Amino acid sequence: MSLDADIERVLFTEEQISKRVSELASQIDVDFNTTTASPVVVGVATGAFLFLADLVRKIKIPVLVDFIRAESYGSGTVSNGAPRISFDLKIDIQGKHVILVEDIVDTGNTLSCLIAHLKSKGASSISVCTLLDKPARRKVNFELVGKGKYYCGFECPDYFVVGYGFDLAELYRNLPYVGVLKPELYK
Ligand code: 5GP
Ligand code: MG
Ligand code: MG
Repeated sequence: MSLDADIERVLFTEEQISKRVSELASQIDVDFNTTTASPVVVGVATGAFLFLADLVRKIKIPVLVDFIRAESYGSGTVSNGAPRISFDLKIDIQGKHVILVEDIVDTGNTLSCLIAHLKSKGASSISVCTLLDKPARRKVNFELVGKGKYYCGFECPDYFVVGYGFDLAELYRNLPYVGVLKPELYK
């Protein structure tokens, strides 16, 4: 039994992802090199876990790492509206630079909720580093905080993707690439 058999098409290969993650890490190194306090890299669980792990191993400047969880999706493929924070940070981010690491920006609901939450905790800047961005599906615009920057791995066409952290009902996260499922598996 292989997960690969459920994939109709690979959108981003392991090699493409690895190369792009290195580029993003180098850009973060450059942008935060002169920052006095170490930035806090905040992974959005669960989807960003592989991206975060690969990204921080390629970042050379000192960073702190923490996780947060926001839930908006059930087990289906359509967002069920306003997300809530269901697991919060351990690190105090008051006066710190935060780099929020996301799997994907889709409607923008999760990101705008997370940014508002981190802003209320007093982050001095909030940057966003997302592996994928699906601009075609944006409903809510988000604003970065302070001198925050926006980093994006790839623009993603409007398909429901799985792999490299992306799930369907918690499955497929461990595929090393991002792909599109055979439609009969989620219809
Ligand atoms: P939002 O709509 O709030 O921007 O995105 C919320 C979450 O929906 C993402 O963090 C991700 O967990 C999930 N999501 C959005 N698009 C996809 C997709 O194509 N595949 C999977 N597996 N999850 C997605
Ligand atoms: Mg996410
Ligand atoms: Mg999910």
